[in-house]
Amino acid sequence: MDIERFEEFISQYPIYEYRIISTDEIKTEERVRTICREECTRYGSTWACPPGVGTLEECGRKIHSFPEGVFFSSVAEVSDIQNFEETLTTRRAHEDLTTEVGKYLTGEGYDIYILSTESCDVCDECAYLTGEPCRFPERMHPCLESHGVVASELVEQHEMEYNLGGNTILWFSLILYRKKR
Ligand code: SF4
Repeated sequence: MDIERFEEFISQYPIYEYRIISTDEIKTEERVRTICREECTRYGSTWACPPGVGTLEECGRKIHSFPEGVFFSSVAEVSDIQNFEETLTTRRAHEDLTTEVGKYLTGEGYDIYILSTESCDVCDECAYLTGEPCRFPERMHPCLESHGVVASELVEQHEMEYNLGGNTILWFSLILYRKKR
């Protein structure tokens, strides 16, 4: 990736931090998906969640079929960090930003695969529930956790900020990329 061009591109967006990471360092762990299964109400309800995203092995193979990725965060501010509904409303801007970065990489001649935040809420009711294919695969970003990725570990390994305190939220995305064949 041409870092200079990429930095010029992202300078127009509120990306807080980013790192280019090798997929060799990305582990996929069953314990993360156990939390999805036991604690998330969206489990098994969208194509962006397990088990719809595939088995842990399939997710790992998918990730490692790309040599590297750009891992980045954006920051949002809310009036009350304890208000879950309000924090979730800030997620859409991060997803839109993620889509724009993905479009940039596609335009630069890369195949991409996006992992982002939470589950997909593009449609009112996910096609997964009726056994139909995803209606908008290009807009659907499975979350990092659905693939067993521990975002906090990547943050730590790359000395990034995970929490800015106060009423701020950091959202994270990972866009894997490889040159089109
Ligand atoms: S885009 Fe629609 S059909 Fe596809 S995963 Fe998201 S909610 Fe489901």
